[in-house]
Amino acid sequence: MESEAGVAPSGTRITIAGRELVNFSSNDYLGLAFHPEIASAMAEAALRYGVGSTASRLICGTSSEHLALEEELAAAKGTEAALVFSTGVAAAMGTIPALVGRGDVVILDKLAHACLIDGIHASGAKMRVFPHNDLTKLASHLAWARESHPDGRVMIVTESVFSMDGDVAPLHEIVELKERYGAILLLDEAHAVGVRGGGAQGLAGELGLGARIEVQMGTLGKALGVSGGYIAGTRTLIDFLINKARSFIFSTAPSPAVAAACRAALRIVQSAEGDVLRARLQENLLILSTELNMATPSSAIIPMILGSEERAMAETERLFEGGFFVPAIRYPTVAKHTARLRVTVSAAHSSEQINSLCKAITYR
Ligand SMILES: *Cc1c(COP(=O)(O)O)cnc(C)c1O
Repeated sequence: MESEAGVAPSGTRITIAGRELVNFSSNDYLGLAFHPEIASAMAEAALRYGVGSTASRLICGTSSEHLALEEELAAAKGTEAALVFSTGVAAAMGTIPALVGRGDVVILDKLAHACLIDGIHASGAKMRVFPHNDLTKLASHLAWARESHPDGRVMIVTESVFSMDGDVAPLHEIVELKERYGAILLLDEAHAVGVRGGGAQGLAGELGLGARIEVQMGTLGKALGVSGGYIAGTRTLIDFLINKARSFIFSTAPSPAVAAACRAALRIVQSAEGDVLRARLQENLLILSTELNMATPSSAIIPMILGSEERAMAETERLFEGGFFVPAIRYPTVAKHTARLRVTVSAAHSSEQINSLCKAITYR
């Protein structure tokens, strides 16, 4: 069944313990994980190139699909080049230790994703954490880093849309500070790509800051609906990573079929259909925020903070009984006493599904 805009219906339902529920937990923000055109691209590539890449990229695992995907990603980002990893986690774990090490400093937002923290730990660089989106503290860390490590590299690592809070980084100000202190910036756009900005530009593109951000990172497994991670930047950066990023060098290349699916997803995200899907996502977010009397969300992630783990678990349980899957997120994923429901909205949800969820949410 095709809807009027020509967008296929997709998987907003999930079966857990034999119950069919409406799923409000997936990161498939545009519904592309169930898109028939992307599925066909994957199936056709599997028949043509095989299901596996058979080796790492630098041995014989690189197919024309990988190279085309990287070119298309770079074009989508407006950068000279891009490099694809098996996952976003692998992108972080390979890139951060390639760029910084002993004698360098990385300054990280408190709410940054685990893979960014792990990448910094693996690098041996000194890590300084600033409270979430706190520019004053970021500036003082930068001043300290520049003074105490005059010969070292200073790198800021943050996200554009935060995974558990759904809010956005003050990117203009961060870029200004980065330039003032001669630092570089790694921006993880995992939850922004396909949602913020046109096409796959993310928040950097939306704000016209792409050219001033040295390392743009993202995943192909959330709004793009497939799997994989990427880094976009200058040709020099990408050539350097090809030779230095251990998770790229020593890992079997992603399946060429996955690369082909990512290409199809990228085409759709950048097409008029992608605009329709983004508009539909915005409509769904507007319904939800209006019904629940909250500010318009800045992303597809809406945290509903209940505080105690018991309350959050009880609400999740109650919603489960009502036919909705909304996960409770607890410590250590989020800070103690900030246990929450994490509602994620997709373009694929119908307005009825959103409305009925809002009616079922009664804790507020
Ligand atoms: C999901 C996520 C990642 C990891 O991406 P994968 O492709 O799932 O490995 C990295 N950073 C953030 C902020 C994420 O939410």
